[in-house]
Amino acid sequence: MRIANLENRAVLLVSDEHGIDVEAASSGRFGPDLAGVYERWEEFTAWAGNLTDTPADAVVDRGLLGSPSPAPRQVFAIGLNYSAHAKESGFAQPDTLPPVFTKFLTCITGPDTAVVLPEGGNTDWEVELVAVIGKEAKDVSAADAWDYVAGLSIGQDISERLSQLRGPAPQFGLGKSFPGFGPVGPWLVTPDEFRNPDNLEIGCSIDGEEVQKGRTSELIFSVPALVEGLSQTVPLLPGDIIFTGTPAGVGLGRNPQRFIQPGETLVSRIEGIGEMTQMFISAGN
Ligand code: ZN
Repeated sequence: MRIANLENRAVLLVSDEHGIDVEAASSGRFGPDLAGVYERWEEFTAWAGNLTDTPADAVVDRGLLGSPSPAPRQVFAIGLNYSAHAKESGFAQPDTLPPVFTKFLTCITGPDTAVVLPEGGNTDWEVELVAVIGKEAKDVSAADAWDYVAGLSIGQDISERLSQLRGPAPQFGLGKSFPGFGPVGPWLVTPDEFRNPDNLEIGCSIDGEEVQKGRTSELIFSVPALVEGLSQTVPLLPGDIIFTGTPAGVGLGRNPQRFIQPGETLVSRIEGIGEMTQMFISAGN
């Protein structure tokens, strides 16, 4: 099942272009927005699985899509979770849970956006698999973890490297939370839709040039391992978002380094989910 956030309304997709408005089809039992749907995710998926002959009444305009989790109470982001990326960043590969930080909620957007480049900054790309929690998880084992995940989406952990790395200790939270720095989308895909949700091709390109390409099977801490590790400390709540880390190929790790320029277009994609597009504009526009 694929579910989208169309103008703050939960829509079950029947194709990339059409879907079923959840509140209308359920006569108000679920929805209208996705935050409420995650609160009753198991009940919702049982209902959605039994839908038959429901007309696809919603037209999916990509420009009107929001984040598939519009109001997470917690946003987790994971650093250094692919060994080649840890190496290009100049760090050892983590053997305990990798660095965990947050992207503040105000930076989370839908999938296709224009992003203002912070003036004088070095803005970089990080395509990431995003997991959305569907059931409260505390002390969950990796073996059971997929039962707690509503689905997967694409994320970009856009990062301004100067403010991220300035000062005595890295400022991951702020450097990665400028407005528009957390696009997620284009929709949520439930784990059962994938032949293997732990092995998906992931990548991104700038103006058609591929800059990152990897597989989520290369994650040092897989989605289940992250759910286990995070839930040992904090309860994960329905609708929470986990940015799982980026593969190698970011601009900071290149020689010479490369950062996003005004006018450039970043396309991020994950196998079985789709793609999303960020256009970058200068602060003066
Ligand atoms: Zn990241």
